[in-house]
Amino acid sequence: MVPVDLFGQSCDLDAILALCERWGVPVLCDSAAALGATQRGRHAGCGARLAAFSFNGNKIVTAGGGGALASDDPALIARARRLASQAKEPSPHYQHEETGFAYALSSVLAAVGLAQLPSLPQRVEARRALFARYQEGLGDLPGVGFMPEPAWGRANRWLSVALFHPRAGAPDREAVREALSALGIESRPVWKPLHLQPAFRDAPQAGGAAAARLFEAGLCLPSGSGLTPAQQDRVIAAIRACFGEAGR
Ligand SMILES: *Cc1c(COP(=O)(O)O)cnc(C)c1O
Repeated sequence: MVPVDLFGQSCDLDAILALCERWGVPVLCDSAAALGATQRGRHAGCGARLAAFSFNGNKIVTAGGGGALASDDPALIARARRLASQAKEPSPHYQHEETGFAYALSSVLAAVGLAQLPSLPQRVEARRALFARYQEGLGDLPGVGFMPEPAWGRANRWLSVALFHPRAGAPDREAVREALSALGIESRPVWKPLHLQPAFRDAPQAGGAAAARLFEAGLCLPSGSGLTPAQQDRVIAAIRACFGEAGR
């Protein structure tokens, strides 16, 4: 099973692990966006057999691309290292007993990422402060919601997401996105659920209604660690303007 720490908030990993243990299902946690987040006092993904982290350009720590795999099983890590570096046998020529991948992160990119790691706590605090400020600046508007933080985890608030519920008095999510776009402010709908992607049209599926509702209502707001208070005020004012009288 591949649970996802969505938007930098850890999933309820212990509950998933207990369930999967009963059925003998290995768990690989997609903690791509959750570096610096914690669950029950441990790092995001900790407890799963493997946890994957992304250093893509938009993440909280970035090497421009690539990522890292974490596990407390040295054999799994050795296997991953081998597969990621073309599964070469120890021989003077290129000898392959099996096929591998060219997934190795270059030393130069690794150095770029490593240099940012010491400032991870400050980056997390900066993102959390952005989230709190959005919540403070927009939370009073009708039909606007934010992702609550569960008691068992501390999110890194990689992306600040706001929900716009038209039936509770908010404008449509797309109307807000387009109004921001007209002012040169980029925002994006939350991830489209896989079961709604045409590529998986014919795949078996179960559930998904909650994810579909979140996709309808959810908008990722500008969330870079370097966003200034003045820039954030501009975003907040632009969103409030979409609410007419209620936003004044
Ligand atoms: C960014 C992200 C990915 C993709 O990571 P890449 O390094 O770009 O492949 C996967 N899952 C989640 C939850 C992400 O946030």
